[in-house]
Amino acid sequence: MLANKCPDCGTVYFLPKPYCRCLGIPDEFVEIKDIGTVTTYTFTGSWSYGGMADEGASGTPLIIAGIVFDGADTMSITLLKTSNPSR
Ligand SMILES: [Zn+2]
Repeated sequence: MLANKCPDCGTVYFLPKPYCRCLGIPDEFVEIKDIGTVTTYTFTGSWSYGGMADEGASGTPLIIAGIVFDGADTMSITLLKTSNPSR
């Protein structure tokens, strides 16, 4: 995966950003790994409220995770897909 790196402070952005927080322009693209660390997560859906039935809800939770991929300095927010959300 490609991320971009700021030449002024060295911060590696994934997802790539047009401007750095130091006001530099991250114009160098670098390869990062497609594995990372889940640093935060939450979930939503009627599945999360045991006993509270919600007509129209599928019962399948949406798991939203913040992941820092190896080689990047910033967190990406994504939907985490799993067949067994309790694991
Ligand atoms: Zn910078």
